[in-house]
Amino acid sequence: MTINFTGQVAIVTGAGNGLGRSHALELAARGAKVVVNDLGGARDGSGASSAAADEVVQIIKEAGGEAFAHGANVANYAEVEDMVNQTMEKWGRVDVLINNAGILRDKTFAKMDLADFQLVVDVHLMGSVNCTKAVWQIMRDQNYGRIVMTTSSSGMYGNFGQTNYGAAKMAVLGFMNTLVLEGAKNNIRVNALSPTAATRMTEDLLSEQLLAMLQPEAVTAGLITLCHEDAPNRLILCAGAGGYASTRLFETEGAFIPAEEQAGEAVLSKMPEICDTDRQSELASGPSQTEKFLKMAAAHLAANA
Ligand code: NAD
Repeated sequence: MTINFTGQVAIVTGAGNGLGRSHALELAARGAKVVVNDLGGARDGSGASSAAADEVVQIIKEAGGEAFAHGANVANYAEVEDMVNQTMEKWGRVDVLINNAGILRDKTFAKMDLADFQLVVDVHLMGSVNCTKAVWQIMRDQNYGRIVMTTSSSGMYGNFGQTNYGAAKMAVLGFMNTLVLEGAKNNIRVNALSPTAATRMTEDLLSEQLLAMLQPEAVTAGLITLCHEDAPNRLILCAGAGGYASTRLFETEGAFIPAEEQAGEAVLSKMPEICDTDRQSELASGPSQTEKFLKMAAAHLAANA
C-alpha cells in the first residue's frame, strides 16, 4: 500500500529543524501542501527567526511542492489562529496537524524555577492544545482530520532533570485520549509519536557514533503511518534508529474487598492479586474502570443476597 497525501493540507509545527523538518519534507514529497510552522528560537525557546522555516519551504518548492512558512509561537493562540486563517485563505482546508514544536529547560526539580516549568508546559501542552483548537472545527466540518501529538519516553517513563518536559509530554497523551472519543463521529483520528532522533535537542546527550544511527527520517517513516487516510486511532508509536514499538496502557483485572473489610491492611494483603497482570486489559475510556469496579461490587452483592 502506498501512502499518499495528494490534495491534502498539512500543518507541521516546529518544522524548521530536526524532526519537524523531516516530517514536513516527507509529507510534501508525498503530495501534501505544507504549512511549515516555526518560531525559530533556540533550543530553550529563547529568540525567534524565520530562516530555518524559509529554507524548508524553499526545498519543498524546488522539488515542485507547495508550502508556506508561518512563524507562529504555538504557545500563543492569536498567532496560531492567524496561521490557520492564512492556511484556510490559501488552501481552504486542513487535513493533517502534526504537533511537533518543542523546547527543553532541563534542571532537577529542586533547582527548577517555576517559570521554566510553566514555559515547557506552555509550548508542549498548550502549543498542542492551541493548534488543535484552531483546526478542530475545520476538521469537524470537513468530516476528516488526522492529528499527531509528539510525546516522549521522558514523559511515559521519566528522565532525570525533565519533570517539566515529562509532565507536558505525558499530558498530550491525556489530551489525545479524549480527543479520540470526541472526534470519532467526524472521522478525526488522533495518534501519538514517541521519537528518538539526533537533533539539536539531543546532540549533547549522545556520542557522535550513536547520533549517526538516530536519523530523523527513520522517525518520520513512522509518523507518516499515523496521519494518512487509513491511520489508526489512539496509537502511541515509538520510533528511533530503525526500531518501532508501541506503548500501551493496561489495567489489571484487580481484586474486590467488601465494605466491612475495606482498610489499608486488606488492600495491602491483596496487592499480589491487584497487581497480577494475567487478566489485564486496555480500557477504551475512563468510565470503563468505574463499570468494572461496580460489576465486582454487584457480583459480591448478588453472591451474598
Ligand atoms: P528541535 O529543537 O530540532 O526542533 C524543534 C523545533 O520546534 C525547532 O525548530 C524550534 O524552533 C521549534 N519551536 C520551539 N518552540 C516553538 C514554538 N513555541 N512555536 C513554534 N515552533 C517552536 O527538536 P526535535 O528533536 O526535532 O523535537 C521535535 C519534537 O520531538 C519535540 O516535541 C520534542 O520534544 C520531541 N522529541 C524529540 C526527541 C528526540 O530524540 N529528538 C525525543 C522525544 C521527543
